[in-house]
Amino acid sequence: MKNLWFASALLPDGWATGVRLTTADGRIERIESGTAAEATDERHAIGVPGIPNVHSHAFQRGLAGLTERRGPTGDSFWTWRELMYRFVERLEPEGLEAIAALVYAEMLEGGFTHVGEFHYLHHDRDGAHFANPGELAGRIAAAAAETGIGLTLLPTFYAHSGFGGAAPTVRQRRFINDVESFARIVEASRSAVRDLPGAAVGVAPHSLRAVTPEELNGVVKIAQGGVIHIHIAEQTKEVEDCIAWSGRRPIEWLLENQRVHERWCLVHATHATEAEVLRMATSGAVVGLCPITEANLGDGIFPAPAFLELGGRFGVGSDSNVLIDGAEELRILEYSQRLAHRARNVLASAEGSSTGRSLFDAAVSGGAPVLDSKAAGLKVGAMADVVSLSSDHPALAERHADEILDSWIFTGGRAVVDCVWRAGVKVVINGRHHRRDALLTRYRRTIKGLLA
Ligand code: ZN
Repeated sequence: MKNLWFASALLPDGWATGVRLTTADGRIERIESGTAAEATDERHAIGVPGIPNVHSHAFQRGLAGLTERRGPTGDSFWTWRELMYRFVERLEPEGLEAIAALVYAEMLEGGFTHVGEFHYLHHDRDGAHFANPGELAGRIAAAAAETGIGLTLLPTFYAHSGFGGAAPTVRQRRFINDVESFARIVEASRSAVRDLPGAAVGVAPHSLRAVTPEELNGVVKIAQGGVIHIHIAEQTKEVEDCIAWSGRRPIEWLLENQRVHERWCLVHATHATEAEVLRMATSGAVVGLCPITEANLGDGIFPAPAFLELGGRFGVGSDSNVLIDGAEELRILEYSQRLAHRARNVLASAEGSSTGRSLFDAAVSGGAPVLDSKAAGLKVGAMADVVSLSSDHPALAERHADEILDSWIFTGGRAVVDCVWRAGVKVVINGRHHRRDALLTRYRRTIKGLLA
């Protein structure tokens, strides 16, 4: 590829002007700043690193917008889950791939360059195991290959419908494994991503309600040092059920019963006491916040100010993919805190600091390691995952340095994204994924079949 030249770019130690990136084999080989553009450079106005997306269930994109009608009783996460289960019952492998491919293209267009796919759909529609245990993992890998997004595949271990090893329901039959069959899926997942640049495989015990303590130990062993993601304390009912089962709250139980460290991503962690916040922050674990989905599902608000004050690290995830936009995840994260605290600039790292810059830096540096991604920021040796922003967009008129991030996040959103390179390959041009039309045609056909 040509060298990329940016009038200004966000490097690890701050904004620089006249930045030339030279890439080789998908990685950044050299960075020069203070340069003038040369005839052979591809020129752009503003360059920033891609945002890691730490938590996605790609197929849920297909039901986005279909669960916004009021039911007979109070709607909640659990009523949403009912429709999700009905959708899952009809989904074929080709359909999963078609939906995931459109979702990944939309993520790239929204500024995300690497996704952690928390993948819990493993079996055929009737619950029968596929001859190839990696059938559906392979579909996710194919969607990543087709779109170019970086993939951390997180095969999910799901065995029970509630705490204490409750038997799974019929509707969960496509998710269910024992530790042995799960190990085969993880192995097959490792094969499925082998040829994808910068890909990784971790494990994802679904939640404390879906695994027993013994199974959790088994699943952690299967990770073999890879990253471990788990849904935790998303729902108040989950907290109540966990207390009824163990006398402990979910985060409390996990921290007492597992050696949780910086390879762990605690997804949501919404309902955390002060003591839990302190212990999470000191464990080094990364909290996977999914602000748009958490707002959509009415989960609650994570105690982010206290967590960040204690040095806690977070990444953001698009989770249910009801709306895919890296900037908007950061905006909702800050806005939920403003509403809760009746204050402004709650998550800015220090007095005088830009809120957008604080959120962006934290999401990039917190998200990448917990995806095992080699792409945290624009630095030599990192994957060349780069986003250019359109200086023509009104939101960025006469904006400089951190004002660019503040205006992208709080004003422009995904419409400000111009081009995106993933592992050095240009996959988004003028805000559109280069395969968008073909992916959209296949997606429409799939959704028509599913909803018919
Ligand atoms: Zn989730």
